[in-house]
Amino acid sequence: MRVHHLAKAAVGDVDPQPERLPGVPCRCSDRFALRRALLPARPDDPVYWSQCDKCRDVMSEDEYRSWTRRYPSMPTAASSRMNNHRPSH
Ligand SMILES: [Zn+2]
Repeated sequence: MRVHHLAKAAVGDVDPQPERLPGVPCRCSDRFALRRALLPARPDDPVYWSQCDKCRDVMSEDEYRSWTRRYPSMPTAASSRMNNHRPSH
């Protein structure tokens, strides 16, 4: 059943599967191992945009934006979806 896209659209940014961020190297390890960070378990915890699978380095959305600006050849497909990641509470 290919209901993935419909389900994803319905629930917004709640995605149980970590979304990979291809083309974006990690800050510390330069490994292309970044994925979307999961939402924090507690409301008071900081919300991060990405996390490295290798070294667990996390970036906030602002840090991620600044970081990806260094790479003008970076795929920009993710940038439009960033606007949908604003916490609504
Ligand atoms: Zn890393």
